[in-house]
Amino acid sequence: MTQTTSSTAQSEALFARARAVTPGGVNSPVRAFKSVGGTPRFIREAHGAYLTDVDGARYIDYIGSWGPMILGHDHPAVREAISDALQYGTSFGAPGEREVELAELVTRLTGTQKVRFTSSGTEATMSALRLARGFTNQGGTGRKLIVKFRGNYHGHADGLLVEAGSGLMTNLDGALGASAPSSAGVPEEYAALTLVCEYNDPAALDTLMAERGAEVAAVIFEPVVGNAGVLIPTPEFLAALHRVQEAGALLIADEVMTGFRLSLNGATGLLGLRPDLTCWGKIIGGGLPVGAYGGRADVMDFVSPQGPVYQAGTLSGNPLAMAAGLATLRTLEADPGLYERLEAYTVRLADGLKEAAAEADVPISVNRIGSMLTPFFQDAPHGSVRNYTQASRSDTQGFGRWFQGLLSRGIYWAPSQFESIFVSASHTSAELAATLEAARAAFAALNS
Ligand code: PLP
Repeated sequence: MTQTTSSTAQSEALFARARAVTPGGVNSPVRAFKSVGGTPRFIREAHGAYLTDVDGARYIDYIGSWGPMILGHDHPAVREAISDALQYGTSFGAPGEREVELAELVTRLTGTQKVRFTSSGTEATMSALRLARGFTNQGGTGRKLIVKFRGNYHGHADGLLVEAGSGLMTNLDGALGASAPSSAGVPEEYAALTLVCEYNDPAALDTLMAERGAEVAAVIFEPVVGNAGVLIPTPEFLAALHRVQEAGALLIADEVMTGFRLSLNGATGLLGLRPDLTCWGKIIGGGLPVGAYGGRADVMDFVSPQGPVYQAGTLSGNPLAMAAGLATLRTLEADPGLYERLEAYTVRLADGLKEAAAEADVPISVNRIGSMLTPFFQDAPHGSVRNYTQASRSDTQGFGRWFQGLLSRGIYWAPSQFESIFVSASHTSAELAATLEAARAAFAALNS
């Protein structure tokens, strides 16, 4: 069970040391707790559904390392696979058998034809876009533009760190394509090659494609959004996405978060998608650094050394990472009831949160699919938040206080309103009961 301690002295001391030598004291921004306040907990160890911090406090974990740990932390099959691989060396810089095995497994599970491994999700999406441009520009068609959706996150490559201009798709005259970079250091010239559209707005996408479709190399999307909080696509939006293929653009499903999470074939399997290319990360590496992109053989054969689109990686196909990915995917495949169990837990969690919030008179709007869930702190019907604009109406301060209330009661929720939480196979009814009890108290505390 959870074991809370009021002291955060060790985390504070480490955070101070970290800030002196690392920007913001963390190696990935959201870990710094900036949007919820307080001291980020420095984690000492993780087993099953639990994290233990350096002050000895134990938490039920709903982040799962931001998605990869679908089996829970320190799963015996994954640990054994890594230890076994370790006996034979940690990196070869030459091909090995495990890369072939994982590629065979991934292509079989996902119905794709060829796959290339990278070391992160960012590399996967970045490489898929270069490939899409290389492929669609054969003979100099001039296809250079990428379309992405507001509030979708595809890693931190320059062309993907592009903010949606809020009126972009409703005011097409002149503004189209004038997306602003969402990070310093991204040249406007790069950002101008990325057009941004509102998620779940099929008419806007159709209009954009009618105007600029001949210049579009690819449309990249999160098939279920996790990075604006959970947003679920409508069938009409999915149909519009598939229409871009008729216009000669490639459809790229970014399944870095949803791949092997929503089903063995990710959101693609669950929602019946037909992307040309798919990107993976997180679960595919079982907690070690792996990303991948794959899809149609005729497109993938454009990648070097077979084709003219260059992409490489010193640690790509790393034997330890391949071993962790293989063990994770094989364990998922061997347990046919696993996705139903994850969903059943998450449904009960969602229902419990709705009930607890209503009792405390705190308005929330819950979006849930499979084992992904976000309670948006706003007064809207459950399931009705469909895009970034709606999501951003949430009371982030209220969420932050609720997050702190959970943390102090031993529940480690995602430290931002605009994230999904992830349930793992290690979460049982005992963790569910403890979570709902803490959630009830944290909601009640908001209005007291
Ligand atoms: N794409 C999606 C949908 C993601 O959620 C993420 C990371 O959260 C990425 C890409 C980037 O992956 P990575 O952090 O491994 O570079």
